Amino acid sequence: MKVLKFGGTSVGSPERFEKLWPIIQSQKSDCHFVVLSAVAGTTNALVAIATQYTKGEIALARQLVQELQQAYQVFVDDLFVTTEGKEKGKNWITRHFTLLDELGNDLFTPAEERLVLAQGELLSTGIFHLYLAEKGIDSVLLPALEFMRINADQEPDMPYIQRQLQAMIDQFPTTTLFITQGYICRNSYGQIDNLRRGGSDYTASLLGAALAVEEIQIWTDIDGFHNNDPRYVSNTKPIAQLSFNEAAELAYFGAKIMHPQSVFPAQKANIPVRLLDTLDMDAAGTLISSAFDHTDEIVAVAAKDNITAIRIQSSRMLLAYGFLRRVFEVFERYKTPIDMITTSEVAVSLTLDDCTYLSEIIAELNHFGEVEVDDQQSIICIVGDFKRNKNGYATLVSEAVKHMPIRMISYGGSEHNISLLLPSKYKIEALRALHHRLF
Ligand code: ASP
Ligand code: MG
Repeated sequence: MKVLKFGGTSVGSPERFEKLWPIIQSQKSDCHFVVLSAVAGTTNALVAIATQYTKGEIALARQLVQELQQAYQVFVDDLFVTTEGKEKGKNWITRHFTLLDELGNDLFTPAEERLVLAQGELLSTGIFHLYLAEKGIDSVLLPALEFMRINADQEPDMPYIQRQLQAMIDQFPTTTLFITQGYICRNSYGQIDNLRRGGSDYTASLLGAALAVEEIQIWTDIDGFHNNDPRYVSNTKPIAQLSFNEAAELAYFGAKIMHPQSVFPAQKANIPVRLLDTLDMDAAGTLISSAFDHTDEIVAVAAKDNITAIRIQSSRMLLAYGFLRRVFEVFERYKTPIDMITTSEVAVSLTLDDCTYLSEIIAELNHFGEVEVDDQQSIICIVGDFKRNKNGYATLVSEAVKHMPIRMISYGGSEHNISLLLPSKYKIEALRALHHRLF
């Protein structure tokens, strides 16, 4: 069995839909589990609808619902060829848009907001299922809301997922093609919830781990992880193979191709993940597996924007113990993750990308000493295998960026990563300079 996840652009138009069946068919596995995102742009549109409902702008929200429905109407008209197919497609979308419209009838609750966000994946999977049926291809549409669940800590409830999924699949012993929704789930109250933006990859990985499949495939519109950001640097190349740890670092630090959390379920269950390109189905893509260990190589450079750096300077830190713990506890109280840290004897610098509670955090840190904040910073992350040969990499990296005002450097934290922090306006220059120097 294989899991194949197709992202928003891969289901973004009727023409793109038509590319999916040949890909599924070419897999030659006994059974395929297809996970779909919402059609590109839909989740953003749903966020806008929910925002207007929340503000009480009912008429405006309903107008957005209508506009989105019209776009879907054109979509199904183009996709289906028979009158019957068009009719079924239309009925499917009408059901979902009626629901979206009716949410304006009374008070709009946070639970309803998540119900709105769930409609994108329900729409895309339903349309795909009907589209295959029109072509005479049998498939079973499995509702993710009946097996995907997160617990009170917002973590996937693996035993439940596994149990439910297996029981559902067992009802269809001869089925070779299942379709399900990415991103959506239920929470510990049984309400509709989601795995956060970009979460369809996470669904695919959780599903693959739960069913112990032979491979998880993530199909997008680029031929794998590139060794640098192709938006800013020319001559980047897809990376043929990565270890799970390298993939996790790259996914987290900017390479938008894959949701960072989605690495871990596959890694834990030791299931290879392949990143593939819907527009070029024969391209090799990137294979992420435990079988692969890079030897003394820098494999990629990636960047992450919108980083805020905080420096806490305090003479109380000198020769003191427990100081860092107290600093970190502040971040823990506000459930705010820290990305990079560097310390000296009298100061500590750290970075955040979630600034929701920044002012509260700073107010508390002010008790410890002098606090300085720099926003609009970027982390440049150099990923590779620095296990064996430690000599030279730090020099290579710092040489490449020697003209730039580096705010922080982190090296030695892991054996796969060197991170630099610099003002975002230097990001592109740094990516290019590193590319030139390293590859
Ligand atoms: N549709 C959701 C989003 O746009 C989930 C996903 O595509 O992975 O974030
Ligand atoms: Mg995505």
